[in-house]
Amino acid sequence: MASHRRAVEDLDLSKLRELLSGTQAQVLTSLDPGYEASMERWSRAAIKPAGVSIVPTTSEEVAVAIKYASENNLDVAVKGGGHSTAGASSTNGGLLIDLGGMRKVDVDVAKQRLHVQGGCLWMDVDEAGWKHGLATVGGTVADTGVGGLTLGGGYGMLSGQRGLVIDNTVAATVVTSNGEINHASKTENPDLFWALNGAGQNFGVTTEFVLQAYPQKDVYMGTMIFAPTPENITKLVTAINDLYEVPAEGVHTKTKGKLNSLLGLGRPPQAGGQTVLLFIIAYDGQESKCKQLLKPILDIGPVVNTCHTGPYPEVNSQIPTVPGFRSSMKGAAYVLPIRPEFVTSMVSKYNTFMDSQPDAAQSLMAWEIYDPTEVVKKEENGCFANRGYHMNSLIMPMWSKPENDSECRQFARDVSLEFKKELEAHGQRTSEGVEGGASVKGKKGAVLLYGNYDQYDEISKDIFGDNYPRLQEIKAKYDPTNMFNKLFPIQPKPSSARIENTAA
Ligand SMILES: Cc1cc2nc3c(=O)[nH]c(=O)nc-3n(C[C@H](O)[C@H](O)[C@H](O)COP(=O)(O)OP(=O)(O)OC[C@H]3O[C@@H](n4cnc5c(N)ncnc54)[C@H](O)[C@@H]3O)c2cc1C
Repeated sequence: MASHRRAVEDLDLSKLRELLSGTQAQVLTSLDPGYEASMERWSRAAIKPAGVSIVPTTSEEVAVAIKYASENNLDVAVKGGGHSTAGASSTNGGLLIDLGGMRKVDVDVAKQRLHVQGGCLWMDVDEAGWKHGLATVGGTVADTGVGGLTLGGGYGMLSGQRGLVIDNTVAATVVTSNGEINHASKTENPDLFWALNGAGQNFGVTTEFVLQAYPQKDVYMGTMIFAPTPENITKLVTAINDLYEVPAEGVHTKTKGKLNSLLGLGRPPQAGGQTVLLFIIAYDGQESKCKQLLKPILDIGPVVNTCHTGPYPEVNSQIPTVPGFRSSMKGAAYVLPIRPEFVTSMVSKYNTFMDSQPDAAQSLMAWEIYDPTEVVKKEENGCFANRGYHMNSLIMPMWSKPENDSECRQFARDVSLEFKKELEAHGQRTSEGVEGGASVKGKKGAVLLYGNYDQYDEISKDIFGDNYPRLQEIKAKYDPTNMFNKLFPIQPKPSSARIENTAA
């Protein structure tokens, strides 16, 4: 808990119940049914006991709770989909706003826009859009929250064609720390809108996102499995490098942004405890065209190939992640060409860890592969500081016993460091960052860290890079006492602290 904020006491409970009486909001303590569900998080290691959980159904109810928390100096956390593995949506004894009661999506068919409440999961968005033949960029695992993923940038299956989630966010409604309901877009409170698009967890409770959607057809998708032999790795990686090489600044790869893939290492139960190479794809186009692109990979002869054409929402249930574990996510940046020797060395590192730690049998490691051209092109959108021709990797240990927390997290740190060395070997400029992260701290250009994956040791300046000073000014305007401080907190700029919170 931030030291200057306090835990909830009995008097707060009765006041909050009184203020919210006559509304649909629930006020839950540990004695109430529903409290435990409200504490649940995707990673069991991220659970903390809130002093009270408010489950609102409208922006107005959120505003009442936030105003009270502000006037009474309460510690506040906000839960969207609960997927932050670092506990950024939990509070120890403070007031939790659990947006799980706000999961409605309204579709404006004429404008092809999705009005998405702040507690929605991506499955809500995918299903609502698909009923009208629409889709937008969204998370690749359907039970992830729209809130945290969007406010931190957001990569998805359609990023190769449409950029980040924030590049498709048209407007938002935000309850700021003084309890006001603000609208933000390029024309209304544009400073707040800029800050929300990349550092949004710092600026209030977003109760609605308006997302641009696009006509969407069926998708060709599936998983191929290969034995992780050096020969297979070389062939697979060579084909990937060829498919995703950016020919020149601003020019699409051979995939034309339509093929999103993931190269993963895992030990699926069907493989009988053996490590396998997973190649998961989603192609927004015809099967025959995708097969042409993938010919060198299909020629390797996958031992399993589930590729088929199916409805768009299915693409976001392909990655084999399982809730209910203790888990953490550590990101790492990488650039093409991927070296086969590097992948082989990561297989060996993964095997050593998995053999020594049977509790972590579900752990995954992955290279996310997409055409980065559109993400780079849209750099005028928001404060997101990680746009570049690099891509994201993911190290995701999953285990169940608390006594294994340190060892499993250390594995993720160690692998991330190997990725950093590999970046340096490719001539990328990195700095020490914090704890050896890959950051180019405070320098212009991509920070080479994705805040939604990197919630270990990095600090806010690592994540926001050159945009940090401007974010401090906007923070002073909308959250001068730093109420929203759970994820890469931004210190409000002292000299601007008296600017009034008015519409631009
Ligand atoms: C299985 C899995 C798959 C993932 N897949 C992807 C992916 O495909 N693409 C990608 O870019 N990232 C992905 N991520 C990372 C993801 O972006 C982060 O974990 C993100 O924090 C999840 O958001 P959430 O709302 O579920 O999390 P929460 O834990 O609820 O929230 C995370 C942070 O956002 C804040 N927050 C959430 N909602 C709101 C809101 N409405 N208003 C204000 N603050 C809010 C919380 O307070 C907290 O600080 C994935 C993560 C996991 C665990």
